[in-house]
Amino acid sequence: MSFELYEREKPVPPEEYVRVEHSSLKEWVKNVYVKLGLREDHAEVVADVLVTADLMGISSHGVQRVGRYVGGIKKGTVNLRPKIRIVRDFGATALVDGDNGLGHPVALYAMKVAVEKAKQYGVGLVLVRNSHHFGIAGYYPLKAAKQGFIGITTTNSEPLVAYTHTVVRYLGTNPIAVAVPRRTPPPILFDAATSVVPVGKVEIYSKMGKKVPPGWVIDLEGRILTGDAREVLRAIRERRAALLPLGGVGEELGGHKGSDLSMLVDLFSGVLSGAAWGWHVRHTISDRPANVGHTVAAVNIEAFMDRELFFDRLERFINEIKSLKKHPEAERIWIPGEKAWLTMQTRLKIGIPIHRNVLNELRKISEDVGVPFTVKIVKESA
Ligand code: NDP
Repeated sequence: MSFELYEREKPVPPEEYVRVEHSSLKEWVKNVYVKLGLREDHAEVVADVLVTADLMGISSHGVQRVGRYVGGIKKGTVNLRPKIRIVRDFGATALVDGDNGLGHPVALYAMKVAVEKAKQYGVGLVLVRNSHHFGIAGYYPLKAAKQGFIGITTTNSEPLVAYTHTVVRYLGTNPIAVAVPRRTPPPILFDAATSVVPVGKVEIYSKMGKKVPPGWVIDLEGRILTGDAREVLRAIRERRAALLPLGGVGEELGGHKGSDLSMLVDLFSGVLSGAAWGWHVRHTISDRPANVGHTVAAVNIEAFMDRELFFDRLERFINEIKSLKKHPEAERIWIPGEKAWLTMQTRLKIGIPIHRNVLNELRKISEDVGVPFTVKIVKESA
């Protein structure tokens, strides 16, 4: 794929954003968590996941989430020195206990185990319990794809979504992510919440002073909630409203399929793993450990066919999709992961746009935690 300057999320209006250099941002995030007592190698992983999200244009799960984990650490529900370990090992499968550590190093460890198993057995399936929120689900399967394996990751999360024909927060936004290596980058990366949007999108809209469009949120009377994102977020937080499953309200546009996908994610990540499920899953900043569960898998392509043959077939598949008759209003046909990859190439080069309100929040975290704010600003306006 040829390189062009492209951003999946456009920083508009540009004067509301500053551009920052990614490695200084990552270093600063790491320093914040190290200062709070997190193991340095774990702090490095958390920082990498958060900054990778911003590089890929997923600001809902980027550094705007630094405060969430700071809060969890301060509250004492996050174990700063977890003993992440395999508690059941059964050939191609394993069960990992995250010992209440942050989800990022826990899920990364689980993916390493899954890849080792896929080398030996053709497939590795690892379930995880006693973990926490792990950021973007796509980070972990991408690690498998980098080594030539197909990676799959799902997680449950705090209850935010109303199951079809209900109005209360019961299911998590439970994302599903799959990464598939290609002969040349970008790998295929499908990474999506099973709700219309993740709550991080409402959070970032609220920090940016934007409005929530119709179709994302439902209130306790079954009405669609729209308008000022701060108000909508408050309603969600106070359990007066819930996010809608992928497909939206009711069955007409397939809302039942979104809520069933979310339920299945929870069945594996929560019920089968031994973690919490549904509304038993806690938020990072809670008075008890979150007991989030993940499902992590790796598939060895060679177990099914010669790698080169697979790559040939995959390229033919992608080319066929790319050459389908385009919708007259569409600019381009995309394969999942392309926008994220192009955004990353762009932002590695010209910096990451951070909304000024988010930047102020990061400065405040710096002050509160007592680490210097060393993020390099490369441009005062995006
Ligand atoms: P998006 O709706 O932004 O994207 C979903 C997927 O669709 C991406 O893989 C994207 O690829 C792909 N895509 C985008 N446009 C097209 C297109 N035109 N044609 C084909 N594919 C396309 O994701 P969400 O807002 O649902 O999720 C954002 C993030 O939130 C994810 O990283 C998810 O893991 C995370 N999350 C984490 C949770 C947790 O508890 N840890 C909970 C919920 C969500 P591309 O990226 O290239 O655009």
